[in-house]
Amino acid sequence: MQNQAALTSAIYFAPLLPWQTLLWEQVTARAQDSNKPLPHALLASGTAGLGKRAFVWRLVAWLLCYQRERHPMGACGDCESCHWLKSGTHPNLQVLPLASLPFDCQDSVANNKNDSTKKAAKPKDTTIKVDDIRAIQPFIYQGGQGLKLCIIDNAEQMTTAAANALLKTLEEPQASVHLVLITDSKAKLLPTINSRLQQLPIQQVSPELGFEFVSRALGGIIQQQPATDADIQQLLTISHGAPLAAIALAQLPWYSKRALWLTTWQALFSKKRSVIAASNYWQEQLSLLEFIDLSKLMLSDIQRELLGLPSNQQDIDFKSVLQNHQPSFDAIASLLAELDALTAALQQNVQEKVAYDKLMATLAAF
Ligand SMILES: [Zn+2]
Repeated sequence: MQNQAALTSAIYFAPLLPWQTLLWEQVTARAQDSNKPLPHALLASGTAGLGKRAFVWRLVAWLLCYQRERHPMGACGDCESCHWLKSGTHPNLQVLPLASLPFDCQDSVANNKNDSTKKAAKPKDTTIKVDDIRAIQPFIYQGGQGLKLCIIDNAEQMTTAAANALLKTLEEPQASVHLVLITDSKAKLLPTINSRLQQLPIQQVSPELGFEFVSRALGGIIQQQPATDADIQQLLTISHGAPLAAIALAQLPWYSKRALWLTTWQALFSKKRSVIAASNYWQEQLSLLEFIDLSKLMLSDIQRELLGLPSNQQDIDFKSVLQNHQPSFDAIASLLAELDALTAALQQNVQEKVAYDKLMATLAAF
């Protein structure tokens, strides 16, 4: 199973994120300390967009690098190990699942930059099955030279059988093998798995550092429009202070269509526009998955406004729309549940047009 070729090599050699310097120094010092070596099983968890994957992939490259003593701040990029990484054929690295390409790495953000017209694909099936875990066991238990690393991304996607198979592996640590699990939802891991992992302390980012990083990365532009400090701050607020998530959000095709969503909803509930016309229009604009993500953000702020809290999107005028029409909290909850159900259904080859029409009908009655 040689699946790490799916990862672009740039993620192994990307610059260290400015808020991870201390963590880097701590972890790499420990990896070189024979009295207190790096634990065999690590967990990188926390809010999406804080750069936990960026950190892990850099660490992977550095741990494997043959010249790491001379390059304490990141893999050398030149040794045999680094070349193997670049060609996606490192014999001492295994990555699960097959469809793993971390969204919150800088390079994936950069790749999306000029991609605002492209429609999103259906959600990838990233389930990790028991056979996937069994397939990496020979790698873990067979000898071989040097350090071996096994990375399980989206670890919360393990089936119970897969998690139990992994648990056995965690209970029998091998001297030269390190496992790193990555997840955005630590609470979804089995407690028995959690208790055998040592958490990497992925830090929150200070608001000042986060702002500066996002501001510099976007270069004053959001969706081809000049961005103010308030626009940057809003991206960070919506992204719970996670800079990489804020940068990704700024580049999502639906981010510039938020006011349009509100106009459509208003036209639907006031019967100025038919469900089919609205559905046809949006199908030209966004994939259903994108429309679902957009709707979730809009609903969260409708909810905040109805609770008397300031909306996170200060550039959108919710108040004037909600003056005329206020959905109940129950209606919001049931629409949110419908959006989740639709996301799941999209993995089962549900016809997008049919689902779009149905969702618009729900919005019209909402
Ligand atoms: Zn190297």
